[in-house]
Amino acid sequence: MWVDGAMIATEGATLPLMAHAAQRGSLVFDVGSFHRTARGPALFRAREHVARFLRSARVVGLELAYGEDALVEAARAVVAPAGKDDGLVRWSAFFAAREPDLLPRSSRASVAVAAQLYEDPPRTTPLRIATFDDARKAAPEAIDPSVKAAAAYLGPMLAKRRAVAAGAEEVVLLDRDGFVAEAPTANAFAVVGGTLWTPPLRYVLAGITRDAVLTLARADRIPVREEPLPREAFASSDEAFLTATSYPVAPIGAIDGRALAAPGPVTQRLIERVAAIQGGRDAAFARWITYVHD
Ligand code: PMP
Repeated sequence: MWVDGAMIATEGATLPLMAHAAQRGSLVFDVGSFHRTARGPALFRAREHVARFLRSARVVGLELAYGEDALVEAARAVVAPAGKDDGLVRWSAFFAAREPDLLPRSSRASVAVAAQLYEDPPRTTPLRIATFDDARKAAPEAIDPSVKAAAAYLGPMLAKRRAVAAGAEEVVLLDRDGFVAEAPTANAFAVVGGTLWTPPLRYVLAGITRDAVLTLARADRIPVREEPLPREAFASSDEAFLTATSYPVAPIGAIDGRALAAPGPVTQRLIERVAAIQGGRDAAFARWITYVHD
């Protein structure tokens, strides 16, 4: 693991209980991925992940001593010795010192970059989704949805627990107007009458996989709507899926108990397109790939 410029053993990476990051949830993070290619492991859209990470840090008021280049290089440095060709890379920034007050006295934050190997085999069965009228994203005026801060995940965590208790595997939260927003850690898509439909960015994170899927759909001339998605249109869609770095495209097999064909043809096509790019097999999108070994 890379911490403030030095490689340390992961077991040595501890945080004091009284750290602001832990007591107030002010830690910000981003999660990217690396994939097996013919030239060894390669990071997927690492610059975009680092840019989003730096933005999260800025909004929360964490001052970092490292810029975009250093943080991409740190990711390469932790993936190279990981011994696996597939996994996740996590950038974190946090106030490590004891900070009893709500407003921390210092703004200089620590930075850690770690490779994370998958513990479970990749999921192959379609997701069962629950929605609830009163499980909603925080209003954007309360928490900017483009910021990945630990504290922002508390409400979504409780909603997911409720979905699991109801027999589903994942929750899709609504926005404050009652339209579909996103899952706790994934963006939501529906295919309705051949059109790919996803909520606009106002209430949801600008997912990097979301952007990849929209870019690929447009390149394939699939019509795209980035407009408020009514809950009923989502639940009665022809196909639906979630996107996130860790999936990256996860077919949805049921919404609120109604079964959907999964993966549908549009979903399947996007799964294959993303896999080819991440595997370094699509020259048109070579710009999204950073090889770990020169
Ligand atoms: N929404 C939220 C709230 C998330 O935490 C994530 C995971 N970063 C996503 C969507 C998916 O984003 P990405 O495709 O960049 O992983």
